[in-house]
Amino acid sequence: MSNSLLEDARKQLDKALEHIEISDDSRERLSMPKSTIITRIPVRMDDGTLKVFQGFRVRFDDSRGPTKGGIRFHPGVTLDEVQSLAFWMTFKCAVLDLPYGGGKGGVTVNPKELSKLELERLSRGYINGVADFIGPDVDIPAPDVYTNSMIMGWMMDQYNIIRRSVQPAVITGKPLSMGGSRGREAATSLGAFFVMRTLLPKMGFKKPEKTRIAIQGFGNAGSILALQLYEAGYKVVAVSDSKGGIYDPKGLDIPVIKKQKEDTQKLQTLYCDMSVCHIDEYQSIDNAQLLELDVDILVPSALENQITEKNAYNIKAKALFEVANGPVDFAGDTILESRGIPVVPDILTNAGGVTVSYFEWVQNRSGLYWTEEDVNERLEQRMVREAGNIWQLASEKKLPLRTAAYVHALSRISESMDARGTKNYYQKRDAD
Ligand code: NAD
Repeated sequence: MSNSLLEDARKQLDKALEHIEISDDSRERLSMPKSTIITRIPVRMDDGTLKVFQGFRVRFDDSRGPTKGGIRFHPGVTLDEVQSLAFWMTFKCAVLDLPYGGGKGGVTVNPKELSKLELERLSRGYINGVADFIGPDVDIPAPDVYTNSMIMGWMMDQYNIIRRSVQPAVITGKPLSMGGSRGREAATSLGAFFVMRTLLPKMGFKKPEKTRIAIQGFGNAGSILALQLYEAGYKVVAVSDSKGGIYDPKGLDIPVIKKQKEDTQKLQTLYCDMSVCHIDEYQSIDNAQLLELDVDILVPSALENQITEKNAYNIKAKALFEVANGPVDFAGDTILESRGIPVVPDILTNAGGVTVSYFEWVQNRSGLYWTEEDVNERLEQRMVREAGNIWQLASEKKLPLRTAAYVHALSRISESMDARGTKNYYQKRDAD
């Protein structure tokens, strides 16, 4: 694995570039992020001391529209990670044909160590630092790992205080009462569910009850997807969170597990300390074991770099759907490809979240709010359409699904870059 996540992510782009003709101008523009801000966030702690945290916001490319991407609160956040996440967002928005470029933000912090008041001060402090860098027509943040709708609400409120106006479209994933969209909370998982339901039969998994699925990560995305798959009759045999996992080859009772985790969460802090592995009747496994289970489908839904050259040879699943961003690194991906294991990439599988974020932004700007049925129907149309497009492109050009998704996105991104004039246009004019 390369030391830089961004360099590693770029290898996926280089691979796709072998299969599509784009202008030199577009290649050049995509070679580095458009702009990056690193900000210092001073936070008054409950005991009176002052702590300074580091925050980042990156706008990778805005050729197709304002940049869009979540804000992550995690101790492992680095500039390199935020830049690669912004890079992926550029392609994800293009895959779904959203009128956005790609952005991302993050704060290097362990939010589990903060009180709720400290968390609110940190969230508002982050916006103080990036307020001139974001905006409804410039860059629109949203939730990501360890940030949620309440945090988005605080952030929108802080932006409004700074701007002295009410601008709900500056941020998405807000509480419903502050201009959030119906259906946003379940959107990432519902989008992934639509992609799985579209592609699984094409991969030969025609019977849900015979399709055994393991899901790594039981947070917002993983737990709701587990429930949707369970309700649609799929056999979810293993789930895990940061503390460990549970496995039953006969299938898990997902509603009971989800409720147990939620109930415990309420009794504790904003962030859940209870682990799914506390449920006695199932076999406990660790995260490494979950990834290597003999299942039909593996759904990594936690963090990046979970499948690398170290464990890719041990993966027994017949196909992967990436709900997390970047869970399979380039080396791991190359090994899975050589073993004939298809990977449905993150930039398609988890794009339901940003798609409904787009719907939220549209609703905020028009002032007309949609029903949940409306939102889900529009989401289904887009996810099914683009999953079908990528499958068809991969089949026609005999490409891995990830490469096909990048090619699909690249054709849209380069079209908007080239619309501003290319080398050919200017050289031709000079020659005339
Ligand atoms: P979350 O914070 O709600 O959940 C993360 C889950 O992963 C938790 O259950 C946590 O315990 C678990 N986890 C952490 N480290 C782990 C490890 N080493 N092994 C196994 N599990 C581990 O976050 P989320 O919103 O569900 O996001 C999960 C992934 O999905 C991230 O990669 C995120 O970028 C991606 N994603 C989320 C959304 C969204 O709308 N929530 C949208 C697009 C992509």
